[in-house]
Amino acid sequence: MYETFGIRKEIEELGEKICEQLKPRFEKIDKNAELCQLKVLSAMQKNRASEACLLGTTGYGYNDVGRDTLEKIYADVFHTEDSLVRPQITCGTHALALALMSNLRPGDELLSPVGKPYDTLEEVIGIRPSMGSLAEYGITYSQVDLLPDGGFDYDGIKNAINDKTGLVTIQRSKGYQTRPTLSVEQIGELISFVKGIKSDIKVMVDNCYGEFTEEIEPSDVGADMVVGSLIKNPGGGLAPIGGYIAGTKECVENAAKRLTSPGLGKEVGASLGILPAFYQGLFLAPTVTASALKTAIFAAAVFEKMGYETYPSSDSPRYDIIQAVTLESPEALKAFCGGIQAAAPIDSHLTPEPWDMPGYDSPVIMAAGAFVSGSSIELSADGPLKEPYNVYFQGGLTWPHGKLGILMALEYMKRTLVS
Ligand SMILES: *Cc1c(COP(=O)(O)O)cnc(C)c1O
Repeated sequence: MYETFGIRKEIEELGEKICEQLKPRFEKIDKNAELCQLKVLSAMQKNRASEACLLGTTGYGYNDVGRDTLEKIYADVFHTEDSLVRPQITCGTHALALALMSNLRPGDELLSPVGKPYDTLEEVIGIRPSMGSLAEYGITYSQVDLLPDGGFDYDGIKNAINDKTGLVTIQRSKGYQTRPTLSVEQIGELISFVKGIKSDIKVMVDNCYGEFTEEIEPSDVGADMVVGSLIKNPGGGLAPIGGYIAGTKECVENAAKRLTSPGLGKEVGASLGILPAFYQGLFLAPTVTASALKTAIFAAAVFEKMGYETYPSSDSPRYDIIQAVTLESPEALKAFCGGIQAAAPIDSHLTPEPWDMPGYDSPVIMAAGAFVSGSSIELSADGPLKEPYNVYFQGGLTWPHGKLGILMALEYMKRTLVS
């Protein structure tokens, strides 16, 4: 079968050899998926998820039992008091913006003790001036970078916390930076430290790409809110839109009253026909996340074998699903993305081309042949066409598809770089 995809024998064999070496690693990932699967299942059973929950409402969406039950299920999965899980939350950035804007008040200060937050949050916060930013509402921002070795700058953080500090934001995943991704344990240490200095600070964790990669979540170690996108891990590839905020009753209520309106809060928001995808997606999320983790580690191992620099390396612990490979040339980057695209279930006949994306200082190339547009729990890759030609990729709804994608990427690179 690999031959019918145009993958040469030596690449297939390399893949097999690496799979063999990764077996102990994959077993651990499967074990983690098993635990997470049970966690999700038990939350569904405890809350009596029923056929009626899948029906959905229209209009105002009063008494939407499916929506309300799903929010209880998310709260149980994350061990929080409450949650908001809505298709009206349009993406991860929206969920994060909502959590911040609703839980900060004019005069408050927001602190990031883990360096620069995700690109799209710069305009939300007002680091890059933007209409409607927190800065426009009189909410200030301060930031403490990680130490050169990736550790927390505890002295710096202590100095940065003041009377105004109302909320601390911690990004779990490295995103598209080269700092290490934080483990839940590390996040727990940071939260204890922060709350030890000022106990009424709210802590929000940007949980994007981290869900179900570990047995516990940041909300198990003191986070007041965990926030993420449903077209990443927790949507299991089935959710076509949406975001979630799970946290304390107060934090979630603040967010609900901002998403809809004061006085209405969680009571409105019709689920339309979306609930089957949200329920089934959450049910599948632990094994889908495991597939994405295997794909990332496999890719790191394959490209290390080919002599490329990878980040993180194949033997480091994983707390998110993003993998970076330094491909060293524009040709290699384009070929890699071409291979990922050629392995896709949708739009495999297209060739990705670099384009000048708004907000970037160099052309960007992206490969995505996804069922859900822009979904990055599905196998997808992108990279800016500039030194050192890093490709960032993530996802893989099934491990066999992830594996094929990586072998195709290598096949395309071999063809391009030889000819
Ligand atoms: C993806 C991501 C976001 C933003 O989510 P979008 O759905 O792309 O808006 C924020 N933070 C991190 C760490 C992410 O990975």
